[in-house]
Amino acid sequence: MFSESGEPIHLRNMELEYEDHIINIKYNLLLDHIKLDAYVRACDEALLGRDGYRRLAAVEARLTREYQVAQRRIEITKLINEQIPIGTINLNKEVNQLDDDDEHQSNPDGIMVDEQEIGNGVYRSIRNLLQIFIPIWNESNPPILQPGDTINLKLGGDGKEKYETLAKVGNLFKYQLQDLQENGISVDGVHWPIELYFSGDWKFMYNIMGLNAPNARYFCLYCDCEASNRWNVDLCCPINKNTKCQKKPPLFPAIKQENYIPDELHLLLRISDVLMECFFNDLFKKREFEREIKNQIEQTMKSIKVHFEFFKSRSNSGKWDWTSLMGPDKKKVLQHFPIVNFISGKRGEEIQKLWRDFYDLYLVLRSPNLTYSEIDNFENKAKQWIKLFCRPSQGQMNSASQIPGLYRKEDVTPYMHVFSQHIPEFLRNLKEKNMGLRVFSTSSIEKKNHNQVRLFFCGTTMGGGTRGKPVVYDIMEFENRQLYYLINNTPQEILMRHIDAGDKENKD
Ligand SMILES: [Zn+2]
Repeated sequence: MFSESGEPIHLRNMELEYEDHIINIKYNLLLDHIKLDAYVRACDEALLGRDGYRRLAAVEARLTREYQVAQRRIEITKLINEQIPIGTINLNKEVNQLDDDDEHQSNPDGIMVDEQEIGNGVYRSIRNLLQIFIPIWNESNPPILQPGDTINLKLGGDGKEKYETLAKVGNLFKYQLQDLQENGISVDGVHWPIELYFSGDWKFMYNIMGLNAPNARYFCLYCDCEASNRWNVDLCCPINKNTKCQKKPPLFPAIKQENYIPDELHLLLRISDVLMECFFNDLFKKREFEREIKNQIEQTMKSIKVHFEFFKSRSNSGKWDWTSLMGPDKKKVLQHFPIVNFISGKRGEEIQKLWRDFYDLYLVLRSPNLTYSEIDNFENKAKQWIKLFCRPSQGQMNSASQIPGLYRKEDVTPYMHVFSQHIPEFLRNLKEKNMGLRVFSTSSIEKKNHNQVRLFFCGTTMGGGTRGKPVVYDIMEFENRQLYYLINNTPQEILMRHIDAGDKENKD
């Protein structure tokens, strides 16, 4: 038998049934690799472990045997790990034990690999990954990268790691990053220049940059502004180095100062935290808070579909605490929460305006194609916003016509300073390179973290085992296999047509 295009049609198998037996006669014993790879991919992506698969194969005789799938999974892992080796690093060791220049230079990648080390961290070479990705990006339709383009590489991270721990990671990648930034990369005879960027939340960034914590006198990541001047938006603060507090060397010296990009997600999260805290602090002072207002706020939140509760803080005895909201809920609250129902008069109106205006400004800074005049407009409005936030008292002191100020100048936070003083310049700089702020959001890292945690708890060690390696090693092997599926176009589904011979209507 042949198909219309002349390809031979094979008989694969035949199934016979009698009493409670099923006999499956196979005609083509050669295993189809593409199909086997599809099995491995399906098990990986559905987080189906060995036992689960064995149970399934026990009731469905046509499924490929479990040991064959497990075997192929090991082969795939080995194949892809040869292309993208996974290194381990011990983050608990003293930093100076890794700081050995001779060893770095003896390795062409500039990465120190110690095979003997059983570490608690894992890494892959950026150069190896680029060698895999560049052809994929170049050949995609439409191409993501074309010869002549500069590759903009965003490094990032979050977490509570100390400077000393992060320094080990910085050290590991020091020479490779420097080389990539200075010389770019050549793949298949095409040269690609590379520009490095960094984005993360404030805590992560100040450690990477070697600067002070946000509560320091010279707090800013981008200028020499003093903490006591954070409220003053009339000061001119171009993006520059913080020269007043440089205490430790930056951890990725290859990254240019202007390429440390503030993270829009944390701007949203932390500034809305301040707005909510200031608002609640007004209400806590009222006598009827516990009896009435608390419940009214919770109900109002419910009406805008946000789950929210007040509770007594355990650490801070007697003080009120509240549900910490994620980004999407914070956006709803900024847009819809009716402040004027809780604070009357001009104060309520002004606070509500602060919430709504902040949300609108946030949407502007995230938009992909801003014009220069839209950025100028943003800058103007962001400065007006800070001025309103810490508006001083108006009118004559202690007179009936006096309007009290809104919030204190000290309430203006480092994130608000960056929002009004530095974001406009970042928007202009990025626009020149055809980029927007949103591509630097750490929300992609948070998503990656979420996926890795999910993998970790589902324990996907089908056919594997940790072999004395850290769990993150398994996670990275999983990610490597994802790259294998991408390079080899491993199918996520294989079409099979069922023909029911008993169905007289079916003419096929
Ligand atoms: Zn600054």
